[in-house]
Amino acid sequence: MSFLPSCRDVSRHLSEALDSGRPLGMHVRLHVSLCEACRRVLAQFALIRHGAARAPEAGPSLSPDAKARLRRSLADS
Ligand SMILES: [Zn+2]
Repeated sequence: MSFLPSCRDVSRHLSEALDSGRPLGMHVRLHVSLCEACRRVLAQFALIRHGAARAPEAGPSLSPDAKARLRRSLADS
């Protein structure tokens, strides 16, 4: 799959796309469709984003520092 971005690249693209609202590129979407690990990363990012959007002030939420640590740990896996 050398024509596809690496998992590390995909993780970065997913994070940027979710933060910016920009659509994912074709190669990133193709990689995610083929890669179980990146599907889990996408689901986790979506969960974080969904939770943050639903309850910006109330209830338990990850701090920006915790999100950064989560992103680093996901990028390193
Ligand atoms: Zn991957």
